[in-house]
Amino acid sequence: MGIKQNLKRILLRINSDLTDLLYRRPYRDAEAGERKRSKDKLLHLDLVITECCTRKCRDCSNLMQYYKSPENIPDITVINDLSRVLDCVRVGELKVLGGEPFVNQQLIIKLMQFLSADYADKVDRINIITNGTVIPYDDCIEAIKANSKAEVTFSNYGLVSCHQDEFVDLLKNNGIPYTIVNGTYTWFDFGRPDKYYESEEFVQRQYKHCYNRKNCNTLYRGGFYVCPRQAHGIHLELLPNSEDEYVDINDFHITTNDELRERIMKLIRRNQHISACHYCIYGKYIHVPRGVQQP
Ligand code: SF4
Repeated sequence: MGIKQNLKRILLRINSDLTDLLYRRPYRDAEAGERKRSKDKLLHLDLVITECCTRKCRDCSNLMQYYKSPENIPDITVINDLSRVLDCVRVGELKVLGGEPFVNQQLIIKLMQFLSADYADKVDRINIITNGTVIPYDDCIEAIKANSKAEVTFSNYGLVSCHQDEFVDLLKNNGIPYTIVNGTYTWFDFGRPDKYYESEEFVQRQYKHCYNRKNCNTLYRGGFYVCPRQAHGIHLELLPNSEDEYVDINDFHITTNDELRERIMKLIRRNQHISACHYCIYGKYIHVPRGVQQP
């Protein structure tokens, strides 16, 4: 065993939190204070509008590669869910994603209109996350352009993002803001959705430092989830369905907006890890090449 591994072992034995901070922790949580202070605002929210994707990434942490019959989420479901949530909390960054969201362009158009009307004040920023494989139709581009809060982010997977350059030109010509995220050539390996039998200490620590549970709370098919892996894993019946670990936003027992806000804020402030974390190895911080396609 090398010096580096020995050092890691010794540090882990002394204090695992300190080890994460000094040696393994993958990011600095610059928003921790703001998140803690916020009583009625989600800094980020992932809104899933489709399970369909144009690619099948072997290591997709959100488990999209496990869908055998993926579907676009019905317009009415997405709009109703979003209005229910925005009736009780504000959102800093609303991330619109799939799968590949531009597979469901009619819904993007409706969302842009919906978020320009009654709910315009409830969302600071709308960020559509794409893999750059689908060129939007003119009416979709027009709808994005008409919403001053909308922007597009490309998760650049190199050759896999085959229409990115053309798409970027389209955005430039229409004055739509965009970002290309190509700084990371590797992903963290979250592992297959299998139970890993790691120690409680490991699972709790990985939850505590998990980027996704802080930045990617997910709204999907009537549920408000801690992270997208949990949302899709439960829907795919690959992960345990523990009903007290997400909020059913259409639960008829929740009768007021205050009550729903309280349930959502309690979930995002939850200290105890969720069951899904036993089926995840994010906290090992293993790197894998991004966007590797499976047959
Ligand atoms: S399952 Fe747990 S550790 Fe894995 S991404 Fe979700 S919250 Fe994070």
